[in-house]
Amino acid sequence: MKKSHEIGQWSRSDKKIGVVIYDSAKGTIVSEGYDCRSSQNILHHAVIVALNRLSRSQGGTELMDSCELLKTYPNPNGYLCTGFDVYVSAPPCLMCSMALVHSRISRLFYKINDSIDGNHALDDGVSSKSVFKLFAIKSLNHSFHVFEINL
Ligand SMILES: [Zn+2]
Repeated sequence: MKKSHEIGQWSRSDKKIGVVIYDSAKGTIVSEGYDCRSSQNILHHAVIVALNRLSRSQGGTELMDSCELLKTYPNPNGYLCTGFDVYVSAPPCLMCSMALVHSRISRLFYKINDSIDGNHALDDGVSSKSVFKLFAIKSLNHSFHVFEINL
């Protein structure tokens, strides 16, 4: 839960949504991201930014980040986030939730935050609780455990 404390610090200092992708087996942060949406790119939600950074660190074809940690942390487990936990300072939207399914994370922890949650839900046009509905779908090829954290 040390990571959830860090997320709590982010969300108190800034209203942007923050994400940490954490390798609990090694106790290492493998990626992080903030909400970077703009009119030029509406898809830069915090989860997508963090997943893109992790992908690039594992040999993706896009430009590498300047973070040395991310350049040197390959995931030997196959899928992008196999065995990793994701901490988010607000419930992820439907797009981000599906990206987490495809990345094959182990666990999702998100902070209960009404102010960010409401804005996020309106921006995405879906309910913030869509994360629960998504994981109720038995036909998906991967599922993970979801935890609300109250900081
Ligand atoms: Zn999102």
